[in-house]
Amino acid sequence: MMHCQSCGSRAETRNVTFNQNIGLLVIRFPSVVQGYLCKRCVHHYFWKMTGISLVLGWWGIISFITNVIFIAGNVGTYLGCMTMSNSSRGR
Ligand SMILES: [Zn+2]
Repeated sequence: MMHCQSCGSRAETRNVTFNQNIGLLVIRFPSVVQGYLCKRCVHHYFWKMTGISLVLGWWGIISFITNVIFIAGNVGTYLGCMTMSNSSRGR
């Protein structure tokens, strides 16, 4: 067992990376969350980072290409975490 680096709870964690892209035609604001996260935080950051990218990530050619890669990577990471056990086990 490890501590989640986001919420600090003792749970199964996985080293994940989620990327977010905000594109403003010529400027990009990419950001990244990387660390050992529990399933609950994986869920949280996946929707936060991917959601913002889905709304704001498309405004520019480079941003558009980057965003496709980012979102595909996020979804892949997220699906890979589906097998993790929940942090709050009702035992
Ligand atoms: Zn957590």
